[in-house]
Amino acid sequence: SPVPDYLQQILDECGGDTSGATADYIPELAAADPDLLGVCLSTIDGTRYEAGDAEVAVSIQSISKPFAYALAIAEHGLDHVLQRVGVEPSGEAFNELSLERDSGRPLNPMINAGALTTHALIGPPDADAEQRFELVRQGLSAFAGRELEVDEAVYSSELDTAYRNIAIANMLRSYGVIDHEPMDVVAGYTRQCSVLVTSRDLAAMAATLANGGVQPSTGEQVVERSVVRQVLSVMMTCGMYDAAGDWMSTIGFPAKSGVSGGILGVLPGQVGIATLSPRLDDHGNSVRGVQLCSRMSSDMGMHIMEPP
Ligand code: GLN
Repeated sequence: SPVPDYLQQILDECGGDTSGATADYIPELAAADPDLLGVCLSTIDGTRYEAGDAEVAVSIQSISKPFAYALAIAEHGLDHVLQRVGVEPSGEAFNELSLERDSGRPLNPMINAGALTTHALIGPPDADAEQRFELVRQGLSAFAGRELEVDEAVYSSELDTAYRNIAIANMLRSYGVIDHEPMDVVAGYTRQCSVLVTSRDLAAMAATLANGGVQPSTGEQVVERSVVRQVLSVMMTCGMYDAAGDWMSTIGFPAKSGVSGGILGVLPGQVGIATLSPRLDDHGNSVRGVQLCSRMSSDMGMHIMEPP
């Protein structure tokens, strides 16, 4: 197949760009190897193509958010989740305290305020922090088609410096948007962000979304099609934070970035896409990841607004 050669070629072409910087507000991420560069595609029948560091594991960070959102909807139904978290792009950075004025409802599940709320929704009302996290870990693993684990060093490093997320969680608690102890929610959400994934895992998770919720390798229907539709819609409008409009108009498929340098993209009905490169731009999106996705989109006609 010419695909791996093509993927290696675009890695070679984008590889020289060392602009941007690794996230430094989480000490353990600042210490990550900035030169990692990988790409992986997984079709909905489970065929995989990859090049570069596709087997290096990093913490999933914000790429966990659409999947936790999917799990919350699958468990409680969309109406219930919408009462707590909206679906409007915030146009602001991922760690902004964007809450609707009167209700205190976070604008969407892709910013931290919305993701903390989504995390708190998972599991039965009397679940403790550990049970909530375990449900999330199992859910993420089902999307990936293998058991995922936590990077404990990243977890404690982020929790030690989680002042901003603690502030956001306290605001959410004061508005009654979350009912749990704010610190428990921050700890659980931080653990969710610390789950280790390779580009292969991310591509498999993306392929599960591309495949209407059915994991291509295990055949498991992880969530219903209607849940996937909701998740991809929100990824499309809010997944790239304050660069979402630029991303949608130029690259044109729903995607989610994470502060460890991953980008996950979905071409519905076709393929899951993952890139990894830790240096980030001002929006917190991977510099070379954006370039790789841009190249693949134009070379392979992946913009979903373009007629075939
Ligand atoms: N764990 C990170 C945080 O809450 C996730 C942010 C991200 O990946 N953009 O700040």
